[in-house]
Amino acid sequence: MGVKIGVLALQGNVSEHIDAFEHALERMGQVSPCSVFPVKKAPEISGCGALAIPGGESTTISRLIEKNHLYDPIRNFSGGIFATCAGMVLMATRVDDPRIRPLGLIDITVDRNAFGRQKESFETDLQIHGLDEGPFHAIFIRAPVATGTGTGVHVLARIKQGIVAVEQGKHMALAFHPELGSDTRLHERFLKKLGM
Ligand code: GLN
Repeated sequence: MGVKIGVLALQGNVSEHIDAFEHALERMGQVSPCSVFPVKKAPEISGCGALAIPGGESTTISRLIEKNHLYDPIRNFSGGIFATCAGMVLMATRVDDPRIRPLGLIDITVDRNAFGRQKESFETDLQIHGLDEGPFHAIFIRAPVATGTGTGVHVLARIKQGIVAVEQGKHMALAFHPELGSDTRLHERFLKKLGM
């Protein structure tokens, strides 16, 4: 049956992450098959080896995490978490918006919507530490940036406005949307780190 990869399905780019993980697994030529599926309940989450928190609206996702009693189950999750955009906001230790109760799983300070109006959405080629086969075409949509990191946080990429990709232990957080392009190298890197 292999390892289960859950995509938190409260709001946001859920099906895009499921597709991206499936493509990543195909490209990695899985020996022991992993399955990817949406998760909404605490027992589903704890049965997974990896979890994705997708992009969407972090205030909404935070509210739904509380409403569905998922704060502690996610905080105590023993596997790796792959978080993008709104997901990165939720993973932080400190967030500039009191409506969000951050999970504190990656020791970063995050500014939501860090780009001015004109640059609310943009695409750029990013040099990402450890991705040697060339830059990553990154899609930013009303993206956050990390303005500070604690010890134990490994910065993978930064642009003029701040830090846009980090790893801490098993977790990875990205300010952009790798699930919206066809490049699955970051999904693959996350899974490989977990030994999948
Ligand atoms: N600005 C959104 C937020 O902070 C994130 C946008 C996104 O995930 N594309 O919730």
